[in-house]
Amino acid sequence: MNNKDLAKAFKDMLTLRWSPVAVKLLKPDEPIPDNVSEPSVPLRHCQAITVARRGSSLYMPPNKHACPDGAAIMGLVPMSPKLRSGELYLLFKKLPNIECAQKMIASRPEFEAGAYQASIVAPLEDAAFEPDVVIFTIYPEQVMWLCCASSYGSGERHVFHTSGYNSTCADLTVQVMKSQKMNISFGCYGARAISDINDFEAYLSVPFNQMHSLADSLRKLSVKSIPEARRKIYMPPVIDRGISSEQVGACSVKVRINEERCDGCGLCEAFCPETVIEMKAMGDIVKAAAIAAEKCCACYTCVGQCPKKAIQLELSQGKP
Ligand code: SF4
Ligand code: SF4
Repeated sequence: MNNKDLAKAFKDMLTLRWSPVAVKLLKPDEPIPDNVSEPSVPLRHCQAITVARRGSSLYMPPNKHACPDGAAIMGLVPMSPKLRSGELYLLFKKLPNIECAQKMIASRPEFEAGAYQASIVAPLEDAAFEPDVVIFTIYPEQVMWLCCASSYGSGERHVFHTSGYNSTCADLTVQVMKSQKMNISFGCYGARAISDINDFEAYLSVPFNQMHSLADSLRKLSVKSIPEARRKIYMPPVIDRGISSEQVGACSVKVRINEERCDGCGLCEAFCPETVIEMKAMGDIVKAAAIAAEKCCACYTCVGQCPKKAIQLELSQGKP
């Protein structure tokens, strides 16, 4: 799959608002890729990502980087002494003392000054180069599916490495290049103050070499899990009826199965975690029957999974 198809697959499966952004740090001896141009004014790395997700492909040598912290963290320029010491974090009142600032700086991933000559950013679909990482500007629900897709083949959980400082440079570019693990960031002071990421969005960065397997796993999740969750199929019809503490008593559940609708497919029996439902032969046909309704925990799985909409739960709460 080429970058164009890969970007389309992620956009379609996750219904992304923005194009994923391909990011590459160019080594000193590497040629500049085709179809990129220098921005007319210096931009921060977070701003360049904003511009790229809107469709521009940028070549960003050091003199086009407006954030000296970000440029230094990515190994394009030496770190300014004031930034290296941490004193500016105190002036901005982002950290309480120099010890705290130095600890945060020391634990931050960085590349050595001069390791790279420029950064390149482009919408993934237009990237005529192999990115190091791909940065998504994304909603939490979409992050969840990317986490699921990443765990799909390995079963592994995720441990993210982020601080709220130096978002797109340290956490999304350097951290992911060094660790080869996807990472999340909620933005940073600079990224929130100077780019258009909205209050409901976060970032997630993926090593490019994992994008194809992630797309494969997402494709499998798109068969059932993603559309079902987005349709909220287990949402009980009434969940907002509060009751007073005097009324609280046993909650009883009746599992109503409409025999006329039921075609005996057996999905409800298979999915029920409490073995409440069993298939019963009725002459030469099979129908679902609630054989142990007292064990029903009201999870609504059978309701959501039944293709014939044959099941309803009747919940009664409170003292009779
Ligand atoms: S899932 Fe629905 S149609 Fe299938 S057996 Fe159960 S009640 Fe019947
Ligand atoms: S609501 Fe849950 S526990 Fe109750 S019958 Fe349906 S699947 Fe089983």
